Amino acid sequence: MKTLFRIIVLLSVVSLSAQDTYLHCGKLIDTKSGKVLKEKTIVVSDDKIISVKNGYVMPANSEDVTVDLKSKTVMPGLIDMHVHLEGETNPKSYLEAYTYNEADVAFESVNYAKVTLMSGFTTVRDLGGSGVNIALRNAVNSGTIVGPRIFTAGKALATTGGHADPTNGSSHELMGDPGPKEGVVNGVEDAKKAVRQRYKNGADLIKITATGGVLSVAKSGQNPQFTVEEIKAICETAKDYGFHVAAHAHGDEGMQRAILGGVKTIEHGTLMSAETMELMKKHDVYLVPTITAGKFVSDKAKIDGYYPEIIVPKALNIGPKIQDMFGRAYKAGVGIAFGTDAAVFYHGDNGKEFGYMVEAGMPEIEAIQSATVTNALLLKMDNQIGQIESNFIADIIAVNDDPTKNISTMENVTFVMKNGIIYKN
Ligand SMILES: [Zn+2]
Repeated sequence: MKTLFRIIVLLSVVSLSAQDTYLHCGKLIDTKSGKVLKEKTIVVSDDKIISVKNGYVMPANSEDVTVDLKSKTVMPGLIDMHVHLEGETNPKSYLEAYTYNEADVAFESVNYAKVTLMSGFTTVRDLGGSGVNIALRNAVNSGTIVGPRIFTAGKALATTGGHADPTNGSSHELMGDPGPKEGVVNGVEDAKKAVRQRYKNGADLIKITATGGVLSVAKSGQNPQFTVEEIKAICETAKDYGFHVAAHAHGDEGMQRAILGGVKTIEHGTLMSAETMELMKKHDVYLVPTITAGKFVSDKAKIDGYYPEIIVPKALNIGPKIQDMFGRAYKAGVGIAFGTDAAVFYHGDNGKEFGYMVEAGMPEIEAIQSATVTNALLLKMDNQIGQIESNFIADIIAVNDDPTKNISTMENVTFVMKNGIIYKN
């Protein structure tokens, strides 16, 4: 009887043992060395990569699964450092600010999260919304919905009338006087409180709008909007909670203040001077280029009525300058962290950014490294994501062509695995 019991226990342990997945990769991008390897087998167990073997290794166990990616190029899941999963561009979006409830935003964001994952982005930084993005992250983590791993800023921080002041453009009656709780900061004490409120709300990092922006209902797209003291207070308080700070900035003066204040990334960077590029390098601050968003807004601004009138000249002026600045920043040696500003253009088109980066002078392999190893490092996940290595999380994607020869293949990701689960094949 005892023996029989033992056998039953043993059998149930065997049947419960993880089913491993063997990925046969025709080409495999080693994002650390920048080399394209040939004929490799990645062995995945649960949510982890357990080994990478030479050649096409067949599984020993009959329950194990083999996936044929022999005609494809395989690489780690991509990381986009700048998306907004709560919304997406459309001519009615300015009206929706008044007609939508949180639940409307939430239901739509579920689809944007899914589309983002299916386009090969297994990790994103959400740089600001109403706070629904925090619930969205939790829903992905619990397995309630399908989406990328999300690091979220919650609500972005602005000064009164600044780019992320939620009541810009409203009638005076609706405008009110939002404060730190709503992410509007004036002075050092407000700055500290706003960061602590984000911590309380469940954010993972802080986003500030260091200068004016294109799509806010306000006149300037580039003026500085924080003092250095306010930014310093934000960055120092953020450090207490293990947060890094991302700064939206188009104008040069606001960018310099953000760098001196202690931010980790500059988003857009449109009018960055050569002097500021040196300052970026000196303070180890990375540029998140968002070229795709710049091109999209300058195209749409030509369509009558797509944006409110006050936005059109800003979109036409700022949008087309990003790619050129990116090329100069790359040549100057500024650290580049891949990021697109998806939501300003359609979610799922994030892969277009690679082509624009290459067009501006960055080699294909470096563009891919910026979206993998570099971003993993900035998220302090460099021992877990961004590479295909033993003990890393099994975030793996594949494209049909070799992107080091044809970068546009990054716009069509045909295989997606996140946490060891295949979502697209
Ligand atoms: Zn943005």
